[in-house]
Amino acid sequence: MTSSQAKKNRSPAGTAGSSEVDTDSPSEVEVARETLRRLAQRKVPPTPDNYRELYFEIRGSADELKPWNALIRDLIAQFERMHGELTQARKREALNHVLEGHPNANILNERLSALVKSWTQAKGASGAASMVPCGNDERAPKAPAPTESAPPAAILATTPAPLAGGVPDTPLRPLLANLLANGIAPVAGDDEALASEARALANILQDTASEASAADFAARLEKLIAHMGWAGEEHRAMRVALLDLLRLIVDNIRELVIDDSWLHGQLSAITETFAGPLSLRMLDIVGQQLRDVIDKQSHLKRDLSEAQARLKEMLAGFVDRLSEVTISTGDYHELLIQSARRISEASSIDELSTVVGELLLETRHAQESTLRAGQELTELRERVDKANLEIARLQNELDTASRLMRHDPLTGALNRKGLDEALMREISTVKRKGSPLCIALLDIDDFKKVNDVHGHSTGDEALCHLTRTVTETLRPQDVVARYGGEEFIILVPRSSEKQMERISEKLCSNIAEAHIAQLPLTVSLGYTLFRPEESSLDFINRADQAMYDAKKKGKNRVCSL
Ligand code: GH3
Ligand code: MG
Ligand code: MG
Repeated sequence: MTSSQAKKNRSPAGTAGSSEVDTDSPSEVEVARETLRRLAQRKVPPTPDNYRELYFEIRGSADELKPWNALIRDLIAQFERMHGELTQARKREALNHVLEGHPNANILNERLSALVKSWTQAKGASGAASMVPCGNDERAPKAPAPTESAPPAAILATTPAPLAGGVPDTPLRPLLANLLANGIAPVAGDDEALASEARALANILQDTASEASAADFAARLEKLIAHMGWAGEEHRAMRVALLDLLRLIVDNIRELVIDDSWLHGQLSAITETFAGPLSLRMLDIVGQQLRDVIDKQSHLKRDLSEAQARLKEMLAGFVDRLSEVTISTGDYHELLIQSARRISEASSIDELSTVVGELLLETRHAQESTLRAGQELTELRERVDKANLEIARLQNELDTASRLMRHDPLTGALNRKGLDEALMREISTVKRKGSPLCIALLDIDDFKKVNDVHGHSTGDEALCHLTRTVTETLRPQDVVARYGGEEFIILVPRSSEKQMERISEKLCSNIAEAHIAQLPLTVSLGYTLFRPEESSLDFINRADQAMYDAKKKGKNRVCSL
């Protein structure tokens, strides 16, 4: 869509009484989408100014807007003017339609102007303004009939237009103040102008003695709303851009990592996490996974460069030995030629026996040297093989260590370290958002007997099967960790105590019915709700206490504290 197309599409806003105000024009969403597309196309950063500039390029210039004071004056004049069939009731309807649909100040201005224009051109206009009664002014024409007209105050009550007098003291006033101070100001982020204006407006509302006029307040509030619109668009565009960037980085790392299955697994996990909706929790998890990847990569890099240095050293030794062998065989070859010459020139047995003696000696030396070189080369080769084996072993060890860093090797549930991290993450979410967090401690009943009767490996199998049953019963965002031998901890974020009770009962019954490892296994479960300001240890201890209550009351049950 081009700017001229966008402009062409715009028809004069709402003929009176019509509910089809400007249906042909591009919607705000369309214009916003086009604006974002052009920002990306022109590779300009999505700052509010850039966004605004492009927005008006597509939608039409902001300079075309009529000044608000002139617009309101014309609007009132046209509203009060007598038009033939265009009654005030119909005008009011059209006006309300425009006012309800467009909170953005510029668009509102444009549509109100179009509305005023359509009223000006409407047939049957009397030409004489019908004024609202004003004191005892004899010249003032009669007020329109009550069925046709509404008092100006009723219109103003639905519009953001300036009000006369101070800001009205209504029950909504403290709520609006609260919304401005605690809703809008904190989410303004880095936009200090927006945050401080929201706080300033909240202060006006909180100050009952404030002398600020309703007109000023309404105008400032309207500006703030427009500003919030831009800021929201900017934040949304930035979120999308950041996510794309992160995805690009992960994909690039994947391209660089050639033969490490653990790293490939980690990167796939990160990509999977990205598939979900953007949330702080998701970013937390991705951050943690990326830290693991970086950690692992730095280990690998160090080990590989050490191994490389060792191999280089050995190769240098190899080449040295080879050249020594070559030199000594070269010397021996020279000696043979000389000896052959001396033999052919020999004139006595004595001379011959001397040559043969020397030849035998050198032959023995050459043999020894070749043997020694051969042995040394074999040794070197063995050392290279050993170094290669060592590298492979190290690689395996690292893989295992990395996998075990946060997970229990038997069941695959989180281990204590993984649990600590998850708990910290969830507690900080509770503090930030005030959402509830529940924890459950689950202990298998009479597990010792299972081991005694069926053997330890059946016990191990039961632990794995139980973990699967628990995971399948819970939601993906819930956390399962192996806390000790046959004890598990479950973190259930954003669930009330009531919901947690249902989840806990379901866990107990699912486990009892699962016939884990073909055994009638049951668990005792204690759960509790996180209390503000308590430590994670107190939180766990209370769940533990609740679990012991369940044991005392006869096992295979749920208790809470
Ligand atoms: P209670 O109902 O009171 O919890 O009784 P219990 O027998 O479950 O509790 P107890 O603490 O006496 O015994 C726990 C048993 O769990 C003892 C231990 O052999 C077993 N266990 C702990 N870790 C493992 C494991 O990794 N594999 C197997 N097979 N058994 C384990
Ligand atoms: Mg136990
Ligand atoms: Mg037990």
